Amino acid sequence: MTGMTSSARPHLNRRLAEFGTTIFAEMSALALSTGSINLGQGFPDTDGPEEVREAAVRALRDGRGNQYPPGPGVPELRTAVAAHQLRRYGLPYDPDTEVLVTAGATEAIAASLLALLEPGDEVVALEPYYDSYAACIAMTGGRRVPVTLRPHDGAFRLDLDELRAAVTDRTRLLLINTPHNPTGTVLTRAELAAVAELAVERDLLVVTDEVYEHLVFDDAEHVPLATFPGMRERTVTIGSAGKTFSFTGWKVGWITAAPDLVTAVRSAKQFLTYVASGPFQYAVAEALALPDAYFDGFRAGMLARRDVLGEGLRSAGFEVYQPRGTYFITTDITPLGEKDAYAFCRALPERCGVVAIPNSVFYDDPEAGRSQVRFAFCKREEVLAEAVGRLRRL
Ligand code: PMP
Ligand code: GLN
Repeated sequence: MTGMTSSARPHLNRRLAEFGTTIFAEMSALALSTGSINLGQGFPDTDGPEEVREAAVRALRDGRGNQYPPGPGVPELRTAVAAHQLRRYGLPYDPDTEVLVTAGATEAIAASLLALLEPGDEVVALEPYYDSYAACIAMTGGRRVPVTLRPHDGAFRLDLDELRAAVTDRTRLLLINTPHNPTGTVLTRAELAAVAELAVERDLLVVTDEVYEHLVFDDAEHVPLATFPGMRERTVTIGSAGKTFSFTGWKVGWITAAPDLVTAVRSAKQFLTYVASGPFQYAVAEALALPDAYFDGFRAGMLARRDVLGEGLRSAGFEVYQPRGTYFITTDITPLGEKDAYAFCRALPERCGVVAIPNSVFYDDPEAGRSQVRFAFCKREEVLAEAVGRLRRL
């Protein structure tokens, strides 16, 4: 994990000392200060549906959510989340006892881990991992145990034997992310079935970050882990309006889980933000009820952009790992004669006015991802084309 040296942060506790500033803040600041195209931090450069934006304005004007909303989230949104899980996946959840609204998926991750882990518990997580996973596990005093996704035939794959071998008697929880950031891997039905079997056999809790559930491409399908036998009662599933509706600044996320898990996560969540995003919760409730055409269009738009950026990166000399989900492409910079992703990303704005993310920071051992760089394609096609033009001059 990268960022400031610990001597620059003398008061920070030892558990967080290795984390520094998040790579997303660091690279977005670099994009701003250099006027570069930001393909680093994953946020769209166009807002989500106009009617959803209008719904937020209406809520604000009507005085809905301008004061503290209820702790678990406004009933309209909890009902809409439950309806979405039922409509898309056939998963019934009770809006009153099995849904919790959070300040983005980020808080859902933090509250889930804080609620469910004791110091010393082991958490098995897919590596490279989203940076908040490692930091939140550290905050709980738990221990992260990575299972590394490795390139195989042009894409990153999970080795199920390694996953099995990572589970010990101290393992409390599996932290899964599919579609997976940053690799774009979408776990297959067979892989998920094996993960589920393992969780049941070893009696593990599962926290599954499914924020990119609507962004799956080609023949990939998103199958929630909670749909597998024995999983509903042990699984906390995380969603995000930032990712699904392109309003990352609204910070609306949610979990769905069995009542005892929701109660536990709510116990932690109430002392983090307590509540957040009042008026936006009403707008997201309307967004979740949008017809399938919205979700299909969202996916089709992102797929077209994946292909623009993927082709462009290939033509610029990068090795491209084809993502089957998310809005990120992981590349290898070795064919460009480069070795060090972090140094490459620090220099890239000066060299050609583009910002990207070094995947090395998502590994416990940065060597493992030393030559991997992630580009986000949730940007307008003309912006992607301009970025590609610049990268081709490298
Ligand atoms: N999980 C993953 C895998 C992510 O990529 C992100 C970034 N959006 C989050 C969680 C956090 O989502 P939110 O913005 O809703 O807090
Ligand atoms: N999830 C976004 C990404 O992976 C970043 C969100 C953040 O900055 N916390 O790029």
